[in-house]
Amino acid sequence: MASASGLALTIDLSALAANYRALAALSAPAECAAVVKADAYGIGIDQAVPALAAAGVRTFFVALPEEGARVAAALSQSRLPNPQSPNPQSPIPNSQPPAIYVLNGFLAEWAGAFRARGLAPVLSSLAMVEAWAAHGHGAPCAIQVDTGMNRLGLSPDEARELARRGDLLSAVSPQLLMSHLACADEPGRAENRAQLALFQEIRRAFPTLPASLANSAGIHLGADYRFELTRPGIALYGAAFAKDRPPLSTVVTAQARVLQVREAAAGAAIGYGAALHFSEARRVAILAAGYADGYLRAAGSSDARAGAAVFLRGRRAAVLGRVSMDLMAVDVTDIPDAAAGDLAELFGPNMPIDAVAAAAGTIGYELLTSLSRRAARVYLPARP
Ligand SMILES: *Cc1c(COP(=O)(O)O)cnc(C)c1O
Repeated sequence: MASASGLALTIDLSALAANYRALAALSAPAECAAVVKADAYGIGIDQAVPALAAAGVRTFFVALPEEGARVAAALSQSRLPNPQSPNPQSPIPNSQPPAIYVLNGFLAEWAGAFRARGLAPVLSSLAMVEAWAAHGHGAPCAIQVDTGMNRLGLSPDEARELARRGDLLSAVSPQLLMSHLACADEPGRAENRAQLALFQEIRRAFPTLPASLANSAGIHLGADYRFELTRPGIALYGAAFAKDRPPLSTVVTAQARVLQVREAAAGAAIGYGAALHFSEARRVAILAAGYADGYLRAAGSSDARAGAAVFLRGRRAAVLGRVSMDLMAVDVTDIPDAAAGDLAELFGPNMPIDAVAAAAGTIGYELLTSLSRRAARVYLPARP
């Protein structure tokens, strides 16, 4: 951190590994996969994947084939399999390379990318199944069924049709049947039980296939939802994943320096648009971070609405006015010793990422995946 002049991210890979172990223990006897799409939710595939593999991950999920290629490269560069830490939950022998599933599925023009890296598509329409039958050369794949989200997946009728078409099914030889929950973060919602019941029914048409339904929040809905494989993403990265559960260990801490502390008179306005006026005199600290670093512009404040806060010298300091591209202002009127050079925590152990996201009208997922390439990153290694 010491050398970073702008937003500095500290990414704790031992917390990531600990979060995986906690989710794997909760998932057992099901295997626990790791979802590392969108550059491992913004924290970095190149660093997250070796740490997760060393913690015992045998199955990875990404959204895009390019992301799958990066996972494969990260795995081949880290010495794997690691005989020191086999995952006792995994039904897959540790001598096999981890599986990499591509959630967005398969189009014929991607065949080369899949073959080169040994990627497995999550096939989500009959057209995708047919394309994989023509181009997949019998390599592993998953079948996704839509059970109510109306995003990706074969309809229940298409799934039953596929189950009857033995020729097509044997041409693609799937290894996994999966579906995705729309409301898992709200355990009381009736949609969860409805999706579970439909998934259980469709599964009877594919009696030999391992099944997977639960994302991070789904793991906590109960043993019925875990099947043979769980697929947590956000919980690995330490952000909130369900209304009734605290997040796991903090993985990402974002900090920025105070560049100057200034006095603003009663009646003055601050920032672009003069969107916030001061009714009383205020002391203001200007921080070296802004929306170009991925700190959300919507986390700012105005005369009409409060914004997020940062953590500075042990106190909370409210964000004042609009967040600029490279700068933001916070209220240090009640932090008299605040001074240039201080480090403010924008989110981390003292300022939950989800509180910042909520103040910006969004969720931790969006804040994490918005972190920009300009932000400096320091990785704390996973302890063996
Ligand atoms: C993103 C995703 C996950 C992981 O969800 P989290 O809420 O981050 O745990 C699991 N399955 C599918 C299909 C996804 O798209």
